[in-house]
Amino acid sequence: MTQPEAKPWIAAIHAYTPGKAKSDDGRTLIKLSANENPLGCSAAAAAALVEARETLARYPDPAAGALREALGKAYGLEAEQIVCGTGSDELLNLIAMGYAGAGDEIIHVRYGFAVYDIATRKCAATVVVAPDKDYATDVDALLALVTDRTRVVFIANPNNPTGTFTEDAEIARLHAGLPADCVLVLDQAYGEYLEDDGPAAFDLARRHANVLVTRTFSKIYGLAAERIGWAYGQPGLIDTLNRIRGPFNVTSAGQAAAIAALGDSDFVLRSRRHNREWREWMAGEIAALSNHGLKVIPSHANFLMVMFEGKTSAGDVNAALMEAGYVVRWLPGQGLANGLRITIGSEAENRGLMAALRQILEQHS
Ligand SMILES: *Cc1c(COP(=O)(O)O)cnc(C)c1O
Repeated sequence: MTQPEAKPWIAAIHAYTPGKAKSDDGRTLIKLSANENPLGCSAAAAAALVEARETLARYPDPAAGALREALGKAYGLEAEQIVCGTGSDELLNLIAMGYAGAGDEIIHVRYGFAVYDIATRKCAATVVVAPDKDYATDVDALLALVTDRTRVVFIANPNNPTGTFTEDAEIARLHAGLPADCVLVLDQAYGEYLEDDGPAAFDLARRHANVLVTRTFSKIYGLAAERIGWAYGQPGLIDTLNRIRGPFNVTSAGQAAAIAALGDSDFVLRSRRHNREWREWMAGEIAALSNHGLKVIPSHANFLMVMFEGKTSAGDVNAALMEAGYVVRWLPGQGLANGLRITIGSEAENRGLMAALRQILEQHS
């Protein structure tokens, strides 16, 4: 060996592809590719972040105590059963690392979140992909893949990139079918976009020793730049994550901003309302383009997955939209070469995108 070689399971990882903000020739585009909040973040959160510069020389609270207390109050949860992470991304990776290794299996659903594949490979575990049902989670297909080597099951609900939602009863049935030593991860990055905020997941995690719920400040709270996520579960699970997380994994500014964001429920309500209104509008506009072969998958999140089944391919539309100044998400690497995921933007962005899309389709027909 003439040079260092990565472990084979590490060398097999395809790095996460982030949503683009610029065209290939360097133009800044209107970014509807990363499911960010078009309303920004709470003004109180931004102010708290600025104030945090007073303590830049100090390490952050390693336990994120005040943030966990605030989360407990806001969501009706036990603060000691919460752990915070550098985005929920860190926590998803730690869950895989904490419970699986070489020879173990981790299941996720086809068209699931790209991080699950990476988290599984990082800890040398085997990726098991369950077939979908109309782009959504198929509980029976998933349960059919469970073996005595299954250590973790990752489910995003609502799911990214498809926007689909699995009913509470189906999630309960999935849990009931899993062995007690298999961790069920309910990734609720988009939970706050649900009309009822998805409390059934927390209930399940409260009652069972093998369920973890993950949430994030990156989506409805609009704090993606600060990298703050959290997980809720029974003490055994939380203990494991605390043992292996970075000791100072959430910055002081991030903790302060997140606490302020939790205090501004009005911003969350406004964001949810804006999203629902414009998601319905966009879905209606796209449904009206069915003569061009467009079909929208019913979404419960802050984006729409649009399938292109007509003459004009998703790849061509993706390129033409970029030409027109818009970047959306084309995911051929995830088996979705015939779809585009479009984040719900501001009113002007949504109207502009639809006008550009209509024009592209007419030019191609
Ligand atoms: C955006 C997203 C996350 C959140 O990632 P962060 O690391 O918290 O920014 C987690 N899961 C899914 C399914 C997502 O779409």
